[in-house]
Amino acid sequence: MNTLHECLVCGFEGLEEPIFIDGTYSKTYEICPCCGFEYGFSEDHDVIHGFITIPEEFLEVAFQLYRKKWIEEGIQIFNPDTIPENKRNKDILKFDILIKQLKGLKLDLSNFDITGF
Ligand SMILES: [Zn+2]
Repeated sequence: MNTLHECLVCGFEGLEEPIFIDGTYSKTYEICPCCGFEYGFSEDHDVIHGFITIPEEFLEVAFQLYRKKWIEEGIQIFNPDTIPENKRNKDILKFDILIKQLKGLKLDLSNFDITGF
């Protein structure tokens, strides 16, 4: 079994290909089954950040914007069948799992304040 890689947007460990190889961004066109981010596409097309194509040093900006949008829109799972049932309520990621995944990304959650949960 191959090692799965962590999604840098949502923290889910379910990517078959690494996002960075030797420090260089790899456009895998793989879609994260959890948050639906498509590496190589979403950073330019699924978020509005003011760049036509995002420079690699600003990739984190795109990840942040997509993550914010995904969370605010209700942490809907892109491909629920691939996510263990104990991590979700039907097609919505459980909030405590979200927090766990975000912590795994070492995000500072002290200012994390999303209403609606
Ligand atoms: Zn993801």
